[in-house]
Amino acid sequence: MQFEQGPIRPPNEAASLLLRFTRNCPWNRCAFCPVYKGRKFSRRPAEEIREDILAARRIADRVLETSWRLGHGGAVNDAVAGALLQDPTLHASARSVAAWLYYGTGSCFLQDADNLILPTAELAELLSFLRSTFPEIRRVTTYARSRTVAVRKLEDLRRLREAGLDRVHLGLESGSDAVLRFMNKGVSAAQHVEAGRKLIEAGLEVSEYVMPGLGGRALWREHAVETARALNRINPHFIRLRSLRVPRRTPLYAKLVAGEFELPSDDEVVEEIRVFLEHLEGITSTVASDHIMNLLEEVSGKLPEDRERMLAAIRDYQALPEEERLVFRVGRRGGAFRTPSDLERDPATVRKIRHLIDEVRSREGRDGVERFVTELVDQYI
Ligand code: SF4
Repeated sequence: MQFEQGPIRPPNEAASLLLRFTRNCPWNRCAFCPVYKGRKFSRRPAEEIREDILAARRIADRVLETSWRLGHGGAVNDAVAGALLQDPTLHASARSVAAWLYYGTGSCFLQDADNLILPTAELAELLSFLRSTFPEIRRVTTYARSRTVAVRKLEDLRRLREAGLDRVHLGLESGSDAVLRFMNKGVSAAQHVEAGRKLIEAGLEVSEYVMPGLGGRALWREHAVETARALNRINPHFIRLRSLRVPRRTPLYAKLVAGEFELPSDDEVVEEIRVFLEHLEGITSTVASDHIMNLLEEVSGKLPEDRERMLAAIRDYQALPEEERLVFRVGRRGGAFRTPSDLERDPATVRKIRHLIDEVRSREGRDGVERFVTELVDQYI
């Protein structure tokens, strides 16, 4: 028993049921994005998607039967999950259903990059079928492109809401037209705003992804200020930070090598986020920093009440001596630290990291240390 799943989902959907409604990305030209490069977009036939939903249902029922058989009364606990996951023949999609039941999130995420490109009637019918097949699902979310949403009629979005779609994740990335053009995002700031507002008007929750660092050294301030300005006009439910990295397989890497784009340092990105937060005004969004690429995970909270705390976390980091910031960056990127307060809590690890930095520096100089930090963070790409 198995069904098809796509390559990615947002970090906060890690424990969601993942069902693939379309394959890859219909745009696929963003300079910073490595995800679907070299893969062709396609719509999956509705019948195929319905079969996948039924296959996921059969797997879920088998998991629940196993729980009863083992005497756990339908609970998917450690014993049941452990018994199932020991089976080496279990397909990855079946494992993911078992994990979904184990975590009990009740959430379902529809893959891949732009499901709102599907005809409204077809998508609405699939959503209704999903909801009736899995009555235990409490939330259905999907990725979509702002440009696709911007050309949708409001009544179409309302129909999708009524059919069972709860939340849309949009890759806003930037509210600066100059940055969006340079990155070939294929959407303007005005379209981002229109899409976000329209979804909210249709009763959907909106989660906007922002990419600190995307303005490079040349456009960082415009990127920060204009992105905040666009979000102030949308007031999305969530603003999710995912700091830029530049893997070799992206078009942006070629621009980096050609000197057409300069990657800001960790500390420059921290300052950019400070300016960005300073310019968020009059909104009630929740800021989430749930991606491992972000240096400061405490920059998260509800606006407006947590803004001062988030800014204080940034100021505390910026007030550290340069060498302490470096030790924290190495520790954070290497998985030893989560917040700068770990520097005080864990002096033994601090000593080890200092020793490591001294070794790299004596061998490869100051640039070598920066290369080392880059390698550490790029392992997560
Ligand atoms: S629209 Fe999204 S998935 Fe498609 S190329 Fe751009 S960032 Fe990647």
